[in-house]
Amino acid sequence: MTLSISPVLNSANQSVSSLSTQQQPQVTDAEMMQAVRTLLIGLGENPDREGLKDTPKRVMKALKFLTKGYHESLDELLNGAVFTESADEMVLVRDIDIFSSCEHHILPIIGRAHVAYIPNGKVIGLSKIARICEMYARRLQVQERLTLQIADALQGLLKPKGVAVVVEATHMCMVMRGIQKPGSWTVTSAMRGVFSDDPRTREEFMNLIRHNANFH
Ligand SMILES: [Zn+2]
Repeated sequence: MTLSISPVLNSANQSVSSLSTQQQPQVTDAEMMQAVRTLLIGLGENPDREGLKDTPKRVMKALKFLTKGYHESLDELLNGAVFTESADEMVLVRDIDIFSSCEHHILPIIGRAHVAYIPNGKVIGLSKIARICEMYARRLQVQERLTLQIADALQGLLKPKGVAVVVEATHMCMVMRGIQKPGSWTVTSAMRGVFSDDPRTREEFMNLIRHNANFH
């Protein structure tokens, strides 16, 4: 399944970014743990048996870790790592590991992101590109929005000549339940600027990220 997100969706930026902010939590850790305990009882389990005694706490902590991107911001993450540079060739970071959680089932989305941009006077530290992907991945997500958020972040930060983001991922909610389709990959893309306007530039990017033999 391939979903292409055209730049026309730029007008949705407002709602995309508003989804990335979260208010202060309204519940305590104890209330969260109580909710996990309730889930366990609902599943027919005995939350007081030895193996499950600490499960509410572990689940609460794991979920907080997996969604810690809500508490990170681009400003903090970049820490000034945007530099003036006259380079104008494509910069590509491929095969960035993505560990996200789907917002419909809170089950893992596992995959890779490939991110490219063509500078227009500014560049960013390469490791920061992976950190931007991680910040948005560590939230409850749909893959389409994750892809857009990465593209929009780079577009906003660098005002480059173009940005291209492709995310390939497998969704555990599809693999383990529902249609139970192991091996199904969802591919989403967001193209901005020259990657959207110039088929040759887009083609160059797509060739560079083409799968190697040991990637399925
Ligand atoms: Zn899901």
